[in-house]
Amino acid sequence: MLPITDYHMHTPLCGHATGDPGEYAAQAIKVGLEEIGFSDHAPLVSHEAPGITMSMKQLPDYYRMIEEVQSKFKNELRIKMAIEADFIPGFEDQTKLILEDCPYDYVIGSVHYIKEWGFDNPDQRQQWDEKDVNAVYRDYYALLRLSAQSGMFDIMGHVDLVKKFGQLPTEDLSDEVHNTAKIFKECGVAVEINTSGLRKPIKEMYPSLSNLKIYCKAGVLLTFGSDAHNPKDVGCDFQRAVDLARAAGYSEYVLFKQRKIERSAKL
Ligand SMILES: [Zn+2]
Ligand SMILES: [Zn+2]
Repeated sequence: MLPITDYHMHTPLCGHATGDPGEYAAQAIKVGLEEIGFSDHAPLVSHEAPGITMSMKQLPDYYRMIEEVQSKFKNELRIKMAIEADFIPGFEDQTKLILEDCPYDYVIGSVHYIKEWGFDNPDQRQQWDEKDVNAVYRDYYALLRLSAQSGMFDIMGHVDLVKKFGQLPTEDLSDEVHNTAKIFKECGVAVEINTSGLRKPIKEMYPSLSNLKIYCKAGVLLTFGSDAHNPKDVGCDFQRAVDLARAAGYSEYVLFKQRKIERSAKL
């Protein structure tokens, strides 16, 4: 059975997504989903990031937007209020303020920055040329572990996003993934299968099958997300996502409500 939830999608407030939330909801119904969650990019606490995240001033607009679509679709689709926030070391207090500002159903924790470098930003892609790829991967996994340990997040987003543009490690870094999975389990955070990697140069979901097997074996819970930045991508490639989940050993995934696991559902 296909998952009935898509827990990762955006709104135009972030500046790089199109379509209004009602169109995302309509597409979700069309592809047979029963529940979605909006998880737009929270204001970046380290610096203003127009075109990358919403601003602090837009947070109330975001809440209003999601409440409106919740009430408009209340008889057809369950819609969760969520947010995707970056883990920026040293800015935990500011991040917490945002996350406590609203009774979110879940918070996705994502690492898009290593120090100031937005490693998945197409505008900063050329910086990869100067990097030691293995060291970038190590730094990335260390940040993922710190994110989980911060206690601020419920789901970790696209947990091997560093591969987006196709740079792959030349060393076996499976120990990094094993350590990360162990910490995720201890901290009680879930991972998502994020299908957006299929639409990126790497052409592979996040995380890879070998990584997902490690998370499954460690007992880390699972969610599904398309990371849609336009309505047509809602629920995109979910058949492939289920196949990946099963191949990794998963037979169920979880639903969130008010920052707690509401229930699990069978695959
Ligand atoms: Zn985005
Ligand atoms: Zn993201």
